[in-house]
Amino acid sequence: MTARILDGNAIRDQIFSELSAEIRRLAARGIRPGLAAVLAGDNPASKLYVNSKIAACAKLGLASFLLTPPATITTAELLSLVQELNRRDDVDGILVQVPLPPQVDSKRILDAVDPAKDVDGFHPYNVGHLVAGRPTLVPCTPAGVMEILRRSNIPLEGASAAVLGRSDIVGKPMALLLMHANATVTVCHSKTRDLPGVVRRADLVVAAMGRAGMVTPDYIRPGATVIDVGQIVITDPAVAERLFANFPERLAKFREKGSILAGDVHPDVAKVAGAYTPVPGGVGPLTIAMLMSNTVKAARLRRGADAARESGRPAEASAAEAAIKR
Ligand code: NAP
Repeated sequence: MTARILDGNAIRDQIFSELSAEIRRLAARGIRPGLAAVLAGDNPASKLYVNSKIAACAKLGLASFLLTPPATITTAELLSLVQELNRRDDVDGILVQVPLPPQVDSKRILDAVDPAKDVDGFHPYNVGHLVAGRPTLVPCTPAGVMEILRRSNIPLEGASAAVLGRSDIVGKPMALLLMHANATVTVCHSKTRDLPGVVRRADLVVAAMGRAGMVTPDYIRPGATVIDVGQIVITDPAVAERLFANFPERLAKFREKGSILAGDVHPDVAKVAGAYTPVPGGVGPLTIAMLMSNTVKAARLRRGADAARESGRPAEASAAEAAIKR
C-alpha cells in the first residue's frame, strides 16, 4: 500500500487565500488586525520562528509589531511591556516567544497576556474554555492538525485516535479537540505500557513526542491516518542511516548538509498507513497559518459584532471551532 500524502503546504496556501479575502473585507471597513511579537534575548531558533511569523503577517497584509527587549530584561519590565500591549488598540494578538531568559518568570508573563489577545491559546482562561467546549482561541499546532484532517476528509466521528504526547502546547489540546470531534481518544506518554500495541488499535495516530522516527511501521494499523507533529534536527549519521535507508535522496541531502529535519514517524510508515503528513511539509506550515487565523479571529471578536459581520466569515469557519461546537 502507498499512503496518501497530506500536503501541509497546499493546505496552508488554501487557508492563506481564505484569510486574505477576509483581511481585505476588514480593510475595506478600516480594520487592520495586528500581531505583536515579543522576542526577548538572542536565541537563534526563536529569532527564526519570530521572523517567519512577521513575514507571514506582511504577506497577508496584517500589521505586525516586533519588540526585542534585551536578554537581561527582568520579570517586572517584561510584565509592564505586556500590559502596554494589552492596552494598545492596534494590537489584536500578542505572542511572547518562549523560551524566555532564565531570570524571567515565564508563567507570570504568559498569564499576564489578555486572554482576548492570546493568539497562542496558552492562557489558563482559554485552556479552560477549550476543556469546556466553549468558543476560544485554540493553540495553533493542534488547530492546524484539525484543518489537515477536515480538509483531507479524514473521518473523526467514532474513530479511535491515539495521541502520542501530553504537552500543554500540543498533546493535551490535540486530545481535547479530537474528543470534541467525537473521536475516542487515548493519550499516550512516556509511561504508557505497550505503546506499539496501544497505537496499533488506532484509526488515527497523532505523534508529538520529539523522538525521531520512533513510530515504526509495526506501530501502525494498515490503512490508518498518521499525523507527524515531531520536528527534530538530526545530526547523527547513524540516526540518519536508520531513518532514511530507503530514501537515498534524503540521505544524500543529509551527507551534503550534515543535518536533516525528521519527525516522530519513521518514513517507512508510508508503506503501511492510509494517509500521512510528511516532515517537512506536513504539520509545520499549518502552525503559522493558524497563528494568522487566530490573529484575525481575535480582531473580529475584540472589535465586536460589526467586525464579525463585515469579515464575511462564516461561523465555525475553522475545523477547531467546528469540533468545539459539535
Ligand atoms: P514536549 O513538551 O517535550 O512533550 C513531549 C511529550 O512526548 C511528553 O508528553 C512525553 O511524555 C512524550 N514522550 C516523550 N518520549 C516518549 C516516549 N518514548 N514514549 C511515549 N511518549 C513519550 O514536546 P512538545 O512541545 O509537545 O513537542 C513535541 C514535538 O512536536 C517536538 O518534536 C516539537 O519540536 C514538535 N512541535 C512541532 C510543531 C510544528 O509546528 N510542527 C509545533 C510544536 C511542537 P511525558 O509527559 O511522560 O514526559
